[in-house]
Amino acid sequence: MENLTLTMYDQQLRVLNDQLNNYRDKVLGYPISSDFDFSELYSFLKFSINNIGDPFEDCNYRVQTTNLEKEVIGFFASLFNADPNDYWGYITNGGSENNLCGLHTARKLYPNGVVYYADAAHYSVPKSIDILNMKSSEIATDFYGEMDYQDLEIKLAANKDYPAIFSLNFGSTMTEAKDNVEKVKKVIQKCGVTTTYIHIDGALSGSYGAFIEPRIPFDFSDGIDSICLSAHKFLGSPMPAGVFITKKSIRNKTLRPMEVIDSYDSTVTGSRNGHTPLFLWYTIKKMGVEGLKNRYLGCLEVTNYCVKQLNEIGIECWVNPGGITVFFRAVSMELKKKWQLATVAGITHIICMPNVTKQHIDAFIKDVILDEKIQCVNGPIL
Ligand SMILES: *Cc1c(COP(=O)(O)O)cnc(C)c1O
Repeated sequence: MENLTLTMYDQQLRVLNDQLNNYRDKVLGYPISSDFDFSELYSFLKFSINNIGDPFEDCNYRVQTTNLEKEVIGFFASLFNADPNDYWGYITNGGSENNLCGLHTARKLYPNGVVYYADAAHYSVPKSIDILNMKSSEIATDFYGEMDYQDLEIKLAANKDYPAIFSLNFGSTMTEAKDNVEKVKKVIQKCGVTTTYIHIDGALSGSYGAFIEPRIPFDFSDGIDSICLSAHKFLGSPMPAGVFITKKSIRNKTLRPMEVIDSYDSTVTGSRNGHTPLFLWYTIKKMGVEGLKNRYLGCLEVTNYCVKQLNEIGIECWVNPGGITVFFRAVSMELKKKWQLATVAGITHIICMPNVTKQHIDAFIKDVILDEKIQCVNGPIL
């Protein structure tokens, strides 16, 4: 009996392993890096690591990786041009928690603020606004997914007596559009709004924003208040993770002490994954700034290749400045399923993540050609 159970177990695990292996190699539409190797860290899975509390404060629970967490926060704070004496942050469960944390911080400072965000924002932005019960105003975007600054001006002017909270895209989910902080600040000035909070959602592009040329204004040197990235996207992590960074001076205004752990309740969740800081620390130690930059440059090369190959078979496509996301008109359902392509409003995309190679692009292009032949035989799909 026991033996039988064991074999069934074993078989299910083997099936799962094969499935995951097979699917992992055919992800062109979601920004998930899978080129990591954390085997050196496997022995740490024997610990129940929990980074509960504020990583920058002492905590009475000590099975933690908060020292490494602080190093990771410091690494990105420096990439985002934060004042070395005025930054704070923590490693979250991912981009959605990042946005919730950014908007929660803003609401604590300005309880009657209005949140402005582009209609291309990730669904976690309106969701956070809903959870926090904040007032908000959705701004139109252009074809490329960037905020329409004229629409912003109209909507901001209509609410100019309220504090203005911005959740700006630095790499929108579908087209990797980047809302320009400089342009938003000009609109703020024009409308005469004096109390503002600028949160940057850099889920994907935040990881390489510092290397984009020509530079797009998005960091602390441009006057933002908080910024974040999803660490399982460009950096790569076996489990979802995010990095949230704001100013220490902002955090200090919103702190609540938490007696049960002798620390501060400055994070959205209580218990926090203590392994992801270890994985991210390992990644930045191995890559360094130079390695991260090269990782981005490698993606740009595949992006250019992808554009060229699509154009060669007559498919029109677009890439936003500095982006690694190639977007074009939706392909057939078969291709969408096979390559796990996200499709919204008739537009689909390939995200040229670090694990996407020219061979992947070639295989996809082959499929498109084949697909079009099939569609021709069956008559055009309208
Ligand atoms: C992916 C994404 C998020 C959400 O990140 P999760 O880690 O999946 O919660 C937020 N914003 C943008 C722009 C994203 O692309």
